[in-house]
Amino acid sequence: MRVLKSEPEIGLVIPCYNEEDVLGSLVERLNRLRAESRFKIKILFVNDGSSDRTRDMLQQICTEHRHISCIHFSRNFGHQAAVSAGLMHVKGDAAVVLDADLQDPPEVVPAMVEKWLEGYDVVYGVRCKRKEGVLLKASYFLFYRIMKKIVPFNVPLDAGDFALVDRRVINAINQLPEKTRFVRGLRGWVGYKQIGLPYERDSRQAGDSKYSYLKLFKLALDGIIAYSTVPLKIGIWIGAGSAVSGLCYFLYVIYSKLVMDSNPSGWASLASIILVLGGVQLLVLGIIGEYIGRIFDEVKARPAYIIETTVGDDA
Ligand code: UDP
Ligand code: MG
Repeated sequence: MRVLKSEPEIGLVIPCYNEEDVLGSLVERLNRLRAESRFKIKILFVNDGSSDRTRDMLQQICTEHRHISCIHFSRNFGHQAAVSAGLMHVKGDAAVVLDADLQDPPEVVPAMVEKWLEGYDVVYGVRCKRKEGVLLKASYFLFYRIMKKIVPFNVPLDAGDFALVDRRVINAINQLPEKTRFVRGLRGWVGYKQIGLPYERDSRQAGDSKYSYLKLFKLALDGIIAYSTVPLKIGIWIGAGSAVSGLCYFLYVIYSKLVMDSNPSGWASLASIILVLGGVQLLVLGIIGEYIGRIFDEVKARPAYIIETTVGDDA
């Protein structure tokens, strides 16, 4: 059981990028949640450089509601940067990160808070039913399973950024200095008492997903490369494999020459070997390049985002 000194305050962190179509119903549902809640709830929007009416709408919402604040980025820095900024600025004893598009239903928040009161430091939503396309579902399925296999700490399966995090966890995540931020990885890495809470992930209420396949692929790469060096070791295994098969083939060539008096012929086999090995070498170089690119980004040590202005008491 968690011992609290006073009435707990929960901060909701909501990254938004061009979400004008959904903001109205989002604020309505959040306000309903707040009215029905027995805890103090504050809301912090992070406007990730939206180019539609999101910015103006958020300004208006913040002036109408004292419990809502907002951070405006100077340009679009990406979802993970927006979540990081939200965690850096949010106040309260715990925070819940949720998407603006109502895919993460705000109505799940009270159940998360209950688990937190039981003593858990991280309560992450586990998507038990996805309402996305088959290809996307299969990609997510595969990604989380690969991640689980190669990352040296517990990565919950099918859990995204939707989660409640205790103040201790927020402080720990905020201390981590990396600029390429994969928040659900950082959240797993810091440890503490974590538990999953199954929920049904709704489909997007309005507007389009801001993640193209390419962006999702990049996020998956960030996730794997930031937490594991296993891909770097692929070269060793492929190299060892091809060296052993090369040796076997060499022995076979000698054997056929000496015993059977025949020369293995054909440039086709030679060409395929060169092509395959050339391809593998480039692939491994590419993997090393991905790591070097990220080292380069980290060494420059530029911040993950720039804040243009903040609105409200809690931003
Ligand atoms: N988002 C953001 N910056 C971006 C892309 C997305 O802040 O560059 C926000 C977006 O407004 C939403 C959340 O991140 O609240 C998740 O994005 P989206 O719904 O497009 O992703 P999906 O659910 O399709 O993975
Ligand atoms: Mg979404």
